Amino acid sequence: MTEGVATSTTSAEVGRGEAAPKEWVLLKFGEIALRGRNRRHYEALLRRNMRNAARELEPLSVRRRGGVLAVSAGERTPALVEPLRDLLGVSLLHRAVCLPKTPEAAAACAIELLADQRGESFAIRCRRRDKRFHLTSPELAAYVGRAVQEALALGVDLSEPDLEVHLEVDRHEIFAYSERIPGRGGLPVGSSGRALVLFSGGIDSPVAAFYAMKRGLRCDFVHFSGRPFTGPESIYKCYGLIRQLDRFQGDSRLFVVPFGHQQKALAGVGAGRLQIVAHRRLMVRAACALAHREELAALVTGDCLGQVSSQTLHNLSVVEEASDLPMLRPLIGFDKQEVIGVARELGTLELSNLPAEDCCTLFSSSLAETRAEAGALRQLEERLGLAEVVEQLLEAATLVRPASGEVRLPVQP
Ligand code: ATP
Ligand code: MG
Repeated sequence: MTEGVATSTTSAEVGRGEAAPKEWVLLKFGEIALRGRNRRHYEALLRRNMRNAARELEPLSVRRRGGVLAVSAGERTPALVEPLRDLLGVSLLHRAVCLPKTPEAAAACAIELLADQRGESFAIRCRRRDKRFHLTSPELAAYVGRAVQEALALGVDLSEPDLEVHLEVDRHEIFAYSERIPGRGGLPVGSSGRALVLFSGGIDSPVAAFYAMKRGLRCDFVHFSGRPFTGPESIYKCYGLIRQLDRFQGDSRLFVVPFGHQQKALAGVGAGRLQIVAHRRLMVRAACALAHREELAALVTGDCLGQVSSQTLHNLSVVEEASDLPMLRPLIGFDKQEVIGVARELGTLELSNLPAEDCCTLFSSSLAETRAEAGALRQLEERLGLAEVVEQLLEAATLVRPASGEVRLPVQP
């Protein structure tokens, strides 16, 4: 289920004839530019996500120019770059100046943009989204190029210039910029529906959540803690990690499920070497029940093939058998070092590395089974009384919104 959005222009959006702010950020779309008839829907979602990401800088002026979204927060426009570089669905950003639609204004601006940059050669790149403009792109580039040469004594190099100025001729204005700021690409959050991330507080699951969001999934999170047999540290780690990840979607929800008693019960019915896989299956069943209740269409995990004994192909499929929802594993082919690199870049690595007692190792045999037998697991589950256990877990789940400061300290049962 995708999130519905209005596609109409809002009152805060600048229209024709109003005085234009000078500074803008231009957002260019990656994949959604290829989306045919659905493109308007993707763009509307992206626009809504943009307003949410930049809400502290409102009021914003927003203009759509061909495949480009131009956003201004007046004098505070430079501060837009930080939140908007994390806006999923945007592949490229430019800090741009809005000019009157004349070659003279374009030349003066190009000179100003290049004057304090270091380099010996330059190129002017023009693009006309308004084909009625009286100069063609090469003519405008030649005019502005000559003015720059005269003013700054730089050489023209069209193939490998040290410096570039881009001029985009639009309906009512020219946008000029010389910077290219890479965006994260992907699809707007919400465009692929909603999913539940199994979130351990380790290194992998935050990275998996990021890739799920990047493909357009709005994510909720569920963390199974070893409470009451472990401390609250893993829960606090999840709070911190979700606050980091929240910049990609906003209003992130975390369900915390105390899992210690059920793990103890699994050990009590003789799980032995099957404990970890049995426990994973139980987690997955509880996560599915929660996902159904919350109308989430898939589970996401940080599993990597072969990373640990519970992630052999055999065990992954035995765990998957317990799920009646698709299980997405964005990291399945990643090396640990690759995951660590992304975690560092996202700013989650340090938090993930903080010590916390892991509920997975509670009551587990040090010899984990790499080929857990499905029949034996089913017998164990029968002895446990599965339906009731899943119901207890669901009832015990507490909802928190770590990024809005709404957190709860776990109560000692
Ligand atoms: P991570 O994989 O996040 O680094 P980890 O390595 O401790 O943590 P694994 O043992 O690799 O966790 O578990 C594989 C996946 O199972 C996790 O990525 C996560 O999706 C899920 N998972 C493990 N433990 C938990 C938990 N306590 N609560 C929720 N999900 C969990
Ligand atoms: Mg892992």
